[in-house]
Amino acid sequence: MLHIVVCIKQVPDSREIRIDPNNNTLIRQGVPSIVNVYDLHGLAAALRIKKEYGARVTVITMGPPPAVKSLKECISLGADEAILVSDRKFAGADTLATSYVLTKAIQKAAEEWGPVDMVFCGKQTLDGDTGQVGPGIACRLHLEQLTYVGKIIQIDLKKRRVRVLRYLEDGIEAVETNLPVLITALKEISPVHRASLSGMIRAARYKPPVWTTASFSHVDYNQIGLKGSPTIVGKTWVPKVRKVEGEEIKGETPEEIAIQLFNKRNVQEQLGWL
Ligand SMILES: Cc1cc2nc3c(=O)[nH]c(=O)nc-3n(C[C@H](O)[C@H](O)[C@H](O)COP(=O)(O)OP(=O)(O)OC[C@H]3O[C@@H](n4cnc5c(N)ncnc54)[C@H](O)[C@@H]3O)c2cc1C
Repeated sequence: MLHIVVCIKQVPDSREIRIDPNNNTLIRQGVPSIVNVYDLHGLAAALRIKKEYGARVTVITMGPPPAVKSLKECISLGADEAILVSDRKFAGADTLATSYVLTKAIQKAAEEWGPVDMVFCGKQTLDGDTGQVGPGIACRLHLEQLTYVGKIIQIDLKKRRVRVLRYLEDGIEAVETNLPVLITALKEISPVHRASLSGMIRAARYKPPVWTTASFSHVDYNQIGLKGSPTIVGKTWVPKVRKVEGEEIKGETPEEIAIQLFNKRNVQEQLGWL
């Protein structure tokens, strides 16, 4: 049976995010948390593989104790185990330190429940947005990595091969590689289904195991938390609203914004239409 690990991150709901103008940081207080959307699609893909080929699905998140809510959601959707990796010593982690700790956790999951065949990450998070953690884990674990995956075509269990479609800016690429593999998921990889009643009951009773620094046989303290995080955030700011012909361009979708822009006189002039 395959062992699949899905890395999920609890993020602030991006529709509610505001920036504190005084210190240019995200205002997290009072903002509802959700499972990062791409991670939910990655989990859905893992659960489809479980249904089709048979697999054990372990979900892992590194985060503060309230992340338990997101782990329970993953259990309600059908994950077998959902682990909270949490310790004050992990606080202040950048993507380098985050990928180090998640690598440790994946190795421990392999010790507990058998060798890991596939690791799913989202293509990026809605808050940090770097897209670095998945490739970081793949490098540390020496895994083949398939990024921007929009479809899993087939898994050949005998040959231990996986074939996927990668949706890139300038086309779609069909790629095949060996297991074990790390996949970063796009929304297209699988629709997210609703939790079943039995899933919700299991989730209500489920207490996610918590792994701290003490849970790992060896931790390099120079690679975790602030100490292990060379990234420096120089400045964050809200981009200025750009006005066209003295008017703010507002819209819910890129299409709505494009239509408004197109209807502006000076845009049509620039295009040579007037
Ligand atoms: C100096 C510095 C200090 C920071 N301190 C903090 C802090 O104290 N608290 C804090 O919350 N953030 C902190 N951050 C932000 C933190 O670095 C990032 O949120 C984290 O490293 C993940 O990066 P990302 O969000 O860009 O993930 P991406 O690379 O965009 O994520 C890609 C995928 O990796 C997986 N993934 C990412 N993060 C996790 C996770 N934690 N658990 C499981 N899977 C994950 C998910 O599948 C996700 O879809 C800090 C950043 C910097 C630069």
